[in-house]
Amino acid sequence: MPEQLNVNPEEIAKFEKIASQWWDLHGDFKPLHQINPLRRNFINSHVGDIFGLNVIDVGCGGGILTESLAQLGATVTGIDMGEEPLNVARLHALETGIKVHYEKITAEAKAQDSAAQFDVVTCMEMLEHVPDPESIIKACAAMVKPGGYVFFSTLNKTHKSYIFAILAAEKFLKLVPEGTHDWQKFIRPSQLISWAENYGLKCFDAAGIHYNPITENHKLADGLDVNYILACQKPIDTV
Ligand code: SAH
Repeated sequence: MPEQLNVNPEEIAKFEKIASQWWDLHGDFKPLHQINPLRRNFINSHVGDIFGLNVIDVGCGGGILTESLAQLGATVTGIDMGEEPLNVARLHALETGIKVHYEKITAEAKAQDSAAQFDVVTCMEMLEHVPDPESIIKACAAMVKPGGYVFFSTLNKTHKSYIFAILAAEKFLKLVPEGTHDWQKFIRPSQLISWAENYGLKCFDAAGIHYNPITENHKLADGLDVNYILACQKPIDTV
């Protein structure tokens, strides 16, 4: 019997449907465009300098972070299971002239043929859309070289994240389509850290990505209670 893919077809369909809006700065992905410089700078500063490094962006979608890392001089591969997001990403890279390699493959399959191949692995706003997030974390940990870095971002499972990410962003302000997120799939930082450490990563920093859906103000800050980003490193001595 074929192995069950760690992919929820309903989740993929959601992103296929709105993929044409990916690079519309005022469309459904506006919040991701707004927070992107924050996460790109967080990643770049923790790595030291991403220039010249080999990076994989897992669940890259239309390539917002992917392109921005390539712009800093990294060699970037973007993987996703959505056909349309990848088409949009490829087209956009052609338009901007930024070189990125995009591939439709699961993180788990990519990890099988790319063990310890990447200096940096990024996985942004994707874990809360998959049936088994731990399996994605395992794949990310497998793909990073000893001494390399892995970054995850997702939504915390708190009352505040329900109010901000579901009630405010989806139902009242309609910043993103209703049903984009399922609160049950949100992940507490303690859970994410314990999964990452189970697969040999050391988590050494985290920051809240604070986004006010009303004023659209955004900044990195201490509180991890809604969106947050986690920095991990694979120790040199792990094989
Ligand atoms: N990481 C990007 C896009 C986030 S949207 C960013 O932050 O800018 C979530 C993306 O995850 C979508 O493109 C969706 O197609 C992808 N996705 C969802 N489940 C997936 C899976 N199992 N494997 C690969 N990609 C997946």
